[in-house]
Amino acid sequence: MIIIFIGPPGSGKGTQAALVADKLKIAQLSTGEVLRKKTESSEGKKLQEMMAQGKLVPSETVNQLVLEALNNNKFDCILDGYPRNLEQVEFLAANYKDKITAIYFDIDQKLLTQRISGRFSCKKCAKIYNKYFNDTKIEGVCDYCKSNDFVFRGDDNEKAVIKRLEEYEKETRPVIEYYKALGSLKSIDASKEANKITEELLLLLKK
Ligand code: ADP
Ligand code: AMP
Repeated sequence: MIIIFIGPPGSGKGTQAALVADKLKIAQLSTGEVLRKKTESSEGKKLQEMMAQGKLVPSETVNQLVLEALNNNKFDCILDGYPRNLEQVEFLAANYKDKITAIYFDIDQKLLTQRISGRFSCKKCAKIYNKYFNDTKIEGVCDYCKSNDFVFRGDDNEKAVIKRLEEYEKETRPVIEYYKALGSLKSIDASKEANKITEELLLLLKK
């Protein structure tokens, strides 16, 4: 089975993908996280530029990296941040035949600003934190891998966030409608506290 997490930037997809994958012992793929690591080649540099501006990167690039990861994986998988437009939906449907469950992270846009502006993550293990809602237990030390090295995302600034929200409305909103029409969409209230959402997701995925 493929579980797709769809929602606006900052709605908690990455946080929940890590928690749910860990509980269910399944795989997880965050396309954003994979793309952020592509910094070396000239193609990687172009991708970083597009991401810094809040634009989606070309579907061709993401389609290939997702297909490769899915083909190398024998387990169920959570896709966080893919598919993000109808072109990617069609590619996934044509190339991968597993059952799809799409989960929509429904959230009031007003909450997103604080979630995004407070976001930081561990450079070593990629655990996501938030300085307002979910800080490290010991200041400056990752709860999981004990690293002291943290990063803020380059695209978590006002200008890029406005563009990312525009891209979401224009490109990704139709993806939600597509899975709804297919009858494979489930929704969760993404404004709740993170542990509560994890519980709800685990219940939803059991059904
Ligand atoms: P997305 O992957 O959808 O962009 P993230 O999982 O990175 O979102 O979460 C965005 C920010 O909000 C992070 O700083 C994260 O720690 C925080 N966050 C995630 N879920 C919640 C929640 N339920 N309540 C409060 N803050 C949250
Ligand atoms: P995310 O980590 O999901 O917030 O994604 C960060 C950025 O990576 C996005 O703003 C896009 O530039 C790029 N990205 C991630 N996933 C995709 C995708 N499926 N299609 C196109 N661009 C993507």
